[in-house]
Amino acid sequence: MSGNDVSDSRRIETLAIHGGQAPEPITGAVMPPVFQTSTYAQPRVAEHTGYEYARTQNPTREKLEAAMASLEGGSDGVSFGSGCAATSAIQHLLNAGDQVISGDDIYGGTWRLFTKVFARQGVKYDFVDFTKVPAEDAIPDGTKLVWLESPTNPLLKVADIRKLAARAHDIGALVVVDNTFATPIFQRPLELGADMVLHSTTKYIGGHSDVVGGTVVTKTPELAADLRFIQNSVGAVPGPWDTWLTLRGIKTLAVRMDRHQSNAKIIVDWLLDHPKVGRVFYPTHESHPQHAVAMSQMSGFGGMISFELKATLAQAEEFCASTDVFTLAESLGGVESLIELPAAMTHASVPPDIRKEIGIEDGLVRLSVGIEHVDDLIADLDKAIAASGA
Ligand SMILES: *Cc1c(COP(=O)(O)O)cnc(C)c1O
Repeated sequence: MSGNDVSDSRRIETLAIHGGQAPEPITGAVMPPVFQTSTYAQPRVAEHTGYEYARTQNPTREKLEAAMASLEGGSDGVSFGSGCAATSAIQHLLNAGDQVISGDDIYGGTWRLFTKVFARQGVKYDFVDFTKVPAEDAIPDGTKLVWLESPTNPLLKVADIRKLAARAHDIGALVVVDNTFATPIFQRPLELGADMVLHSTTKYIGGHSDVVGGTVVTKTPELAADLRFIQNSVGAVPGPWDTWLTLRGIKTLAVRMDRHQSNAKIIVDWLLDHPKVGRVFYPTHESHPQHAVAMSQMSGFGGMISFELKATLAQAEEFCASTDVFTLAESLGGVESLIELPAAMTHASVPPDIRKEIGIEDGLVRLSVGIEHVDDLIADLDKAIAASGA
């Protein structure tokens, strides 16, 4: 099933609400029903309606897949039970002995999946800093797949997707971009040369911190068919309620991202002026090390900010525990603001010397700025810095 009219020229705010969607044909229901069924009645032996069994086909899931394909400008979406399940499905396209080149500061769960699961099954992974190593050196001949996350977590490093995709295609490698942080509102990797785009829809796409999911959007129906075979064979499918909730979240994606961005920009400027704050990382701010690349491939950025509090680990921990509007939690991308300390939380499993080497200082704080009133967010951060003793 290849649904999306990739030539759809409507604007992304419109696609977020209507892309790949049409009223349900029998009743006219504007939102797709939750098809909570495991199987479908067949009129005659070996004849069916296009729906046989719910691991293989589910109409609610298809609506989410079409919406994601539309937003990313791809041929198809293929949805899974989590972002990690979507990442796994792409690895299942590989054979033992195949070489993958990946960014070196990818999402921790992706790193775990590569090094502790698929490496055991014979896939080879090498990790490079795409912001430092030129594309020709980073991607050697014989590479089968290039895995990019841009911007990355937590330092929001930006890889040059156009250049890396061009090199990868010169040697016949496939390019995947994890677009979870930027969302299609601000970055459309297929237009920059990627073959597949991955989302943890748990984050901005769902947007309400109430559902876990993942989707891969492909450039071509052929890639989608390969992934659909994996989706059906491995079976890591999302349930109908989860796909419905995610679709509901997508309707407001454009307005949410707009507010995430405007709040974040004001907070970045405030942080840069604060005497207790060192470096601030935000890709579309001119102080960012890859600002020029970011501006060449992104139309904006959302609510993710990292900054260095001039503080000891204990003071930074006190700071993170002293906010009231920002909730101390992992994850990101919901309407509510979250705060976390990578050195002690999301990146605690990375040894301290390697943390230093990749630039994660003890005082590095990561914010997922929500859509509350920005004055309340700033007052909260101000109060917590005072309480931290930094
Ligand atoms: C959360 C996340 C994932 C994994 O997604 P899950 O839905 O948690 O399985 C992958 N990549 C990025 C960038 C993420 O933030």
